[in-house]
Amino acid sequence: MAGMNAKAPSPETLRRLKEAAGPKGWSEDASEIAPHLVEWREKYRGTTPLLLKPCSTQDVAAIVKICAETRTPLVPQGGNTGLVGGQIPNGEVLLSLKRLNHVRAIDRDNNTLTVESGCILADVQKTAGEADRLFPLSLSAEGSATIGGTISTNAGGTNVLRYGNARDLVLGLEVVLADGRVWDGLRGLRKDNTGYDLKQLFIGAEGTLGVITAAVLKLFPRPRTRETAVVAVPDPEAAVALLHRMQSASGGAVTGFELMPQLGLAFVLRHIAGARAPFAADHPWVVLIELTSSARTSALRSALEETLTLESDKGLVRDAVIARNEREADDFWRLRDSMSEAQKPEGGSIKHDVSVPLSRITAFLKEASEAVVAAEPGVRVVAFGHLGDGNIHFNLSQPVGAEKAAFLARWQTLSDIVHAIVAAHGGSISAEHGLGVMKRDEITRYKSAVEIDLMRQIKRTLDPLNIMNPGKVVLP
Ligand SMILES: Cc1cc2nc3c(=O)[nH]c(=O)nc-3n(C[C@H](O)[C@H](O)[C@H](O)COP(=O)(O)OP(=O)(O)OC[C@H]3O[C@@H](n4cnc5c(N)ncnc54)[C@H](O)[C@@H]3O)c2cc1C
Repeated sequence: MAGMNAKAPSPETLRRLKEAAGPKGWSEDASEIAPHLVEWREKYRGTTPLLLKPCSTQDVAAIVKICAETRTPLVPQGGNTGLVGGQIPNGEVLLSLKRLNHVRAIDRDNNTLTVESGCILADVQKTAGEADRLFPLSLSAEGSATIGGTISTNAGGTNVLRYGNARDLVLGLEVVLADGRVWDGLRGLRKDNTGYDLKQLFIGAEGTLGVITAAVLKLFPRPRTRETAVVAVPDPEAAVALLHRMQSASGGAVTGFELMPQLGLAFVLRHIAGARAPFAADHPWVVLIELTSSARTSALRSALEETLTLESDKGLVRDAVIARNEREADDFWRLRDSMSEAQKPEGGSIKHDVSVPLSRITAFLKEASEAVVAAEPGVRVVAFGHLGDGNIHFNLSQPVGAEKAAFLARWQTLSDIVHAIVAAHGGSISAEHGLGVMKRDEITRYKSAVEIDLMRQIKRTLDPLNIMNPGKVVLP
């Protein structure tokens, strides 16, 4: 849990906050608040004296101003799909941004979309699609995650290889600062060399520096051709080699390159209704490859088929199925997207969201798998994810028949083992989920004292009263 419990706000402060949020802008109803207090994995549970639900930037600014005057800490929350406990309050006032959900502008000539932070990611994608454009950020929680949450966690997902993560997709921000002032940085410029790039401070800050209220997002040409395949490979090394061959052959058209282990697929086939095995035989590793183009072209199909044939002759590819239509492509993606869900019925799962340079993936997977099995005999490694970005969700399912609580009690011990190997390969212990409370203290072991000191100085400068999501990311 996050450090200390926040001091309860006075009744007068609560009254002022409710007034600032407006009649429909707050709740003390326990049943309405309850779903906001527990995260998806049920790893973090929290408390709050008040849920605030403002519907305008001005209301957010008025709320934060009162918080600053009265030194009342607050926790911003979007869709509550974050995986490191950052959005869960620990006695602080909870500020839900979900009612701030208007599309402010779409500029097709400039290829930009300006939206408020509470817009749901899937709706933002849809709005872009209706304008014949693509907003490429995509992740399996996109039906609930908000754009403000994805920006605040610098979310990644399945299209990073081609389009980058949230940080690469934002041109401008509107932010309510910790003193209640509004910074209007809603610029739609691809070139703007006018001093420090302030928006980058708030992107990935997990609500610890300010409240994001709106953003200008980059749009791209909408894909018209999509080719999707599942490919069985003998080992991760072959998968990395195949990625490079596919990039060259397709002219850099690889949008997704996701790794799935045999055990992970077996869990999906066992627990997810409608999931179908892509191959007749089991293979140790499978990659899901997606190529896209905004042109209507048969070139992607040719590149895919030719590369798979060539590499299968060389032994890099053991089997492959190319989707014949959209439905089959979606079925392949369902296998990948269900990988987390399918681990739940298998008991306790200890999760790692790590990245290493692509050149180190093979060594990392081998060393980390051997080390965890040595430390916890019978542990079942389910290492899957965004191979194209060097980002592996190195998850550990409990040994068959083990006691769930006893296994989960080993979380930190096993994580220390995995993270030490990640660090030895020059990797990151949090590739895309952030630090939240989960990795706030641990990160101090992996970043230099200089880097942590700079983070603290930024926190103290932008939030001198430590009211913005205190206890998350870094202690001031
Ligand atoms: C099934 C599943 C799959 C996922 N897959 C991926 C994936 O592939 N890639 C990936 O990167 N993540 C993934 N995630 C994690 C999660 O979806 C992302 O972190 C997402 O960006 C969080 O958005 P949210 O709106 O739910 O934010 P929340 O969970 O509500 O908040 C996350 C953090 O952002 C802060 N915050 C929220 N809104 C604001 C705001 N407007 N201003 C300031 N701070 C704010 C919160 O305080 C908190 O620290 C997944 C999660 C689930 C449950």
